[in-house]
Amino acid sequence: MPIRQLPIELANQIAAGEVIERPASVAKELLENSLDAGATKLHIDIEQGGRRRILVRDNGAGIPKDELALALSRHATSKISSLADLEAIMSLGFRGEALASISSVARLLLTSKTAEQQAAWQAWVEGRDMQPKLAPASHPTGTSVDVQDLFFNTPARRKFLRTDKTEFGHIDELIRRLALVHHQVEWRLTHNGKSIRHYPPASAPQQRQQRLAKICGQVFAERALEVDHGIADLRLQGWIAPAAECRYQGDVQYMYVNGRMMRDRLLQHAVRQAYGEQLQQLGESERVPTYVLYLELPANEVDVNVHPAKHEVRFHQARHVHDFVLAALREVLQQQAPAAMTTHQY
Ligand code: ADP
Ligand code: MG
Repeated sequence: MPIRQLPIELANQIAAGEVIERPASVAKELLENSLDAGATKLHIDIEQGGRRRILVRDNGAGIPKDELALALSRHATSKISSLADLEAIMSLGFRGEALASISSVARLLLTSKTAEQQAAWQAWVEGRDMQPKLAPASHPTGTSVDVQDLFFNTPARRKFLRTDKTEFGHIDELIRRLALVHHQVEWRLTHNGKSIRHYPPASAPQQRQQRLAKICGQVFAERALEVDHGIADLRLQGWIAPAAECRYQGDVQYMYVNGRMMRDRLLQHAVRQAYGEQLQQLGESERVPTYVLYLELPANEVDVNVHPAKHEVRFHQARHVHDFVLAALREVLQQQAPAAMTTHQY
């Protein structure tokens, strides 16, 4: 075959293949956009596990009418304009691909209004060249993205979707993860018209504690040890369960780096090492580290552009970060271990 430029829709579908694996990946991209836009109220409405519909409504800054079409094009972003910006990134998004990718594998309708505008506008793309169309709409300040019939035009992808229950479970878990770090935001999640979760805004410490209990369980919220350590520009905060309380099946393992949820091997290793012998001594293999931890460090100390879905990071001083986390957790766990062991008999 001769060399040819790919049609835009196909190029976007290939890009979608990297990040849009299932309904929860769509929800993740949409919610990160809403958070980047400063939303404090989020409504997530799901139908049939998300395969039929994923609707995210926010009260963020909105998108001006003359940028709506751009928002749907690939490599168009309001978040960075240079490599220097990328290296100091604070927003959750920066690739400018999500909306274009999703529009190429689902029916996407973007509706938005900024505070300055009188009226709302709505945009969607059509055809192989994904030409954006615009129409007036009715919407309060903020943005709604309505994604319907995910993978309707990519049957191979559709085949990999699991049951509605499983797909919804992934979305529910995503909301917990985000709600554990975006405390100021009020979250509402519905499935097939039924209210499933409501996390009221939780700015005050007591409300945060309530949200922690709602998401991670009352036992964890009551018995976990508080972590608050800082050295130079590294800071680790959060909660970790004493070894004797680690009776969960690994469902409370949340680690955030600069506000992003991560599954980072280096950090997981540090946590496991901090528990070290304590967990082994208890001798029950199902006892796994149980924690909600927030690591903060200067944005230029960490590279977030390692993975398209941004699940991983690279630390410039990996060893240093590892040892800091290890030392902080070790101190908390060791100080508390004897007391915890004697109070609760196992
Ligand atoms: P990225 O988030 O990487 O910039 P996206 O394709 O996810 O790329 O979004 C493209 C652009 O559309 C964003 O940079 C932002 O300006 C705008 N946008 C998308 N969703 C929202 C939203 N919910 N509120 C305000 N602006 C949004
Ligand atoms: Mg985005």
